[in-house]
Amino acid sequence: MGLIRSWVQSANAADCPFPLNNLPCGVFSLGEDEPRCGIAIGTFVLDVTGLEEEGLLTLDGAPLLGVPFWNEVMAAGPAVWHALRARLTALLAEGAAERAAVEPFLHPLSQVALHMPFLVSEYTDFYAGRHHATNVGTMFRGAENALPPNWLHIPIGYNGRASSVVVSGTDVRRPWGQVKGPDHPVPAFQPSRRFDIELELGAVVGTPSEGPVTVAEADAMIFGYVLLNDWSARDIQAWEYQPLGPFQAKATATTISPWIVMKAALEPFRTPTPAREVPLLPYLHEPGPMLYDIALEVALQPEGGTETVIARTNYAEMYYSAAQQLAHHTTSGCAMNTGDLLGSGTISGPTKDSRGSLLELSWGGKEPIAITGGTRSFIEDNDTLTLRGQCRGAGYTIGFGECVGKVIPALADPYAR
Ligand code: CA
Repeated sequence: MGLIRSWVQSANAADCPFPLNNLPCGVFSLGEDEPRCGIAIGTFVLDVTGLEEEGLLTLDGAPLLGVPFWNEVMAAGPAVWHALRARLTALLAEGAAERAAVEPFLHPLSQVALHMPFLVSEYTDFYAGRHHATNVGTMFRGAENALPPNWLHIPIGYNGRASSVVVSGTDVRRPWGQVKGPDHPVPAFQPSRRFDIELELGAVVGTPSEGPVTVAEADAMIFGYVLLNDWSARDIQAWEYQPLGPFQAKATATTISPWIVMKAALEPFRTPTPAREVPLLPYLHEPGPMLYDIALEVALQPEGGTETVIARTNYAEMYYSAAQQLAHHTTSGCAMNTGDLLGSGTISGPTKDSRGSLLELSWGGKEPIAITGGTRSFIEDNDTLTLRGQCRGAGYTIGFGECVGKVIPALADPYAR
């Protein structure tokens, strides 16, 4: 499928991240107005809450867009998601009869503020990148025990904190925490000195489930995907993580991109998971390709300095798909809710410059990487980290919008009172 042309001319450029093929879901505000639901098209956001109020967009016979989050549409299920895309495509396509009625609901993206696109019900983070798991395991436990014995059988994960999830553009305060390591023979409480990113993709659950679901059912439950930065304090993590996994090291913030790219926009880019090294149990078998060919990059910009792209990789590098992770998540009978967010795990490729965290890029700080005007082992105060992702179609691009966070200095000792 090629570009679907729109009367919004900026949406027809081959490198525009928001063509009519994309229609990602966000929440925006104009000036002092209350936030509303919007769809990105070209260099504009389309006020779909306004379209619904005006009777130009009717979904499921009831208002679903009168709230500043997409959860009601997400919960309504695949038939409504399809109807939304079909109606918006008709309204925005070249030659659409409703152009004059729709045009007043377009606002330049440069003039709006973007907010959290959905209410996060719960957040689970996985560990499904083989290169990342091998790299981190080698550093933490040695090459012999790099990949845990369960890793090739189970998409392993931990229950994170929904309260940690923030939208792109939110500053991230360097955390304090308890550390112990080669530099600390006894535990110390101090600002993290090894603060890091994790380049991930987040799957957003639309329809809820009760009881175990298959991989195919799990895939059908997924509304869309966002870029996700799982900020990680490596010095805190190394001391706290055994035996129950990461805790405070991952709880400072998790940044997501402001647009949910619906699964339908990604369909042309489906690609299979790699060959299984050991057979998976039947409940994890995939009925078809469940990964996507999404080119990803990480950029680092010091305060007042020039940006350097420090990593380039692809979501197709994952060993487990989000559908497999979601299916596995339900095996215990765990109910999944509208607005559940599943982090993929860090997406690293096989080469040094395709590693999705500074921990890997600088090999635990032993091999600082070059950036314009300096070097980095971990994030320094006032560095801005930006994740980007895009799929390249025939004559068009599906973009995610940027996932940006600036790390601001730690506060004074929070317990010195
Ligand atoms: Ca992670």
